[in-house]
Amino acid sequence: MTTQKEYQDIQVVDKDSIDTDKFDRQKRIHGWDQNKISTAKVMVIGVGATGNEVVKNLVLSGVGTIYIIDFDFIEISNLNRCVLFNSKAAENNEYKVDVVKEACKVLNPDVNIIPIKKDLNTIDKNLYKECDVICSCLDNVEARLEANNYAYYYDVPFIDSGIDEYFGTVQAVYSKVSESACLQCAISDKDLELMWNKFSCTGQEIKSEDQETTRKIATIITTTSIIGGLQSQQVLKFLLDIDYFRKYGKWSNQIGEPLIGKQLLYNGLMNRFKIIEKLKDPNCWTCSYKKHLS
Ligand SMILES: [Zn+2]
Repeated sequence: MTTQKEYQDIQVVDKDSIDTDKFDRQKRIHGWDQNKISTAKVMVIGVGATGNEVVKNLVLSGVGTIYIIDFDFIEISNLNRCVLFNSKAAENNEYKVDVVKEACKVLNPDVNIIPIKKDLNTIDKNLYKECDVICSCLDNVEARLEANNYAYYYDVPFIDSGIDEYFGTVQAVYSKVSESACLQCAISDKDLELMWNKFSCTGQEIKSEDQETTRKIATIITTTSIIGGLQSQQVLKFLLDIDYFRKYGKWSNQIGEPLIGKQLLYNGLMNRFKIIEKLKDPNCWTCSYKKHLS
């Protein structure tokens, strides 16, 4: 493997700051550019279990600005899998975004966390194009498709995740790789019909004992931290390498290609990871029109 001249090799780390620069160890990674991370703006939609993991990882990595969108309150039942929540906040039913912001200040006071207590469909749509990467850590298909559609429209990389018990998925969408599928591509008419009921993120209907559809998904922190880790890794890949991709039309060897148009499947029961190529729907109403325009 030859090292490309055009981009920076491993950074020269100042001996004096080995133990005093909090990013010293990640700066040692080939292709790493902390300035790109520190100046980045990332949107995280949903700060439940997976969102907690994603935000925690981005904050510790030093991502400059993180918009967190969630209008929900903390419940006691969140506490088994949300590293940024606490018992007192649960007893007081505090807003998730407020508590996440406070916890992040302790982890890394240099990161600017901007909490937005709104339903996704009521946020200012300009926010999408202000961000470098958008993440959905949501438990309903409808909001995830909305995020997919706006991210695609504004050419912002979008990373989606889903969890259910011991299973999870991560998928990236990026309009600049025009032959790749978006989230909407995989949505059939049947899915759309089902979507109007409330469904779990992996598409399986969840019914309570009285057969009423609920949105409570069975999961544990081992699943959400694995999926949140993979999802935040995808964010960092885009932040570090998108300039290279724009310049050369490919991803650098040092950072590697994100999961664009592909879905990573995690099966905690069978101890397996699998990556599948998502099929692009030529009639997808989100991503096909751009193809016709170009
Ligand atoms: Zn599509």
